[in-house]
Amino acid sequence: MFRTARVSAALALCTALLAAACGRDGSPPSKGPAADRLPHDQVDRAFTLPASGTWTRAKRRGYFVVGAKEDQPYLGEKDPATGGYAGFDIEIARMMSASLGFPPQSVKFKTIASANRETALQNGQIDYYVGTYTINANREKLVGFAGPYYLAGQSLLVRKDEDDIHGPQDLDGRRVCSAAGSTPYQRIQADYPRAALVAYDTYSICVDNLLTYQVDAVTTDDAILIGYAAKAPDELKVVGRPFSKEPYGIGVPRGDSALRLALDGALQAREKDGDWKKAYEATLGLSGVPAPDPPAIDRYPARDARTA
Ligand code: GLU
Repeated sequence: MFRTARVSAALALCTALLAAACGRDGSPPSKGPAADRLPHDQVDRAFTLPASGTWTRAKRRGYFVVGAKEDQPYLGEKDPATGGYAGFDIEIARMMSASLGFPPQSVKFKTIASANRETALQNGQIDYYVGTYTINANREKLVGFAGPYYLAGQSLLVRKDEDDIHGPQDLDGRRVCSAAGSTPYQRIQADYPRAALVAYDTYSICVDNLLTYQVDAVTTDDAILIGYAAKAPDELKVVGRPFSKEPYGIGVPRGDSALRLALDGALQAREKDGDWKKAYEATLGLSGVPAPDPPAIDRYPARDARTA
């Protein structure tokens, strides 16, 4: 009886979260960045990059097609009413478009789940990918990475009334949810095999399962979890200290070093001129964490020459 009441209360909350209309005083806007504080991306009209097949195809088409997430608060969110995307990753994608010669608003975003990113880049479905995408050696065998442009760390999201989970060491026998194909999923599987691990395509499904008592914790990057917690501060909390390093890169087709290095240069320029910080403060910064210094960019000229 009690459980039923609790589940229906949680379901009501999910519906409220989905409707994105909690309307609490002082809570950050549930959709979209603080538009007045976003950087005004200048289009570099003189830019050309004929050495890049990806850029050349985009030029012919007239815009970039960029892979992103659509359900990660402050990072990559799609407004179901307008179809528009917003968030820190989205702003990074738009800045890159402007620096590479295309209007920032011309980017066509495509939602691609964590497990499908490499395939989407390999089969030309997208030109580049900006969506909490950790750079690591396994992925570098399949795709290229510009950046990093942000450093996150794996953490845990639990219900506010959970007192027993403070870190990954407390997950034995507990149900923990993450996205298929993600590094946080892989880390729990490898390092905490006694956790009862559940995978879905997206973290928002995990969060729904947490609110309805189907799982006991959600694990992924702190940047993502802080956003979900900020949207439901009475129901959810992020616990413990980050237990990994997740440097976010812009995924590109593996062979296209010209595109990768151009994006590295563009990131560096936008970090230097203050646009990176402006974009952060108008998006991810709304979840309450002040702008960190961006991590050093790793321009790796030779790595693409290695055989996979
Ligand atoms: N940064 C991690 C990853 O790339 C987790 C976030 C995500 O799934 O996008 O796997």
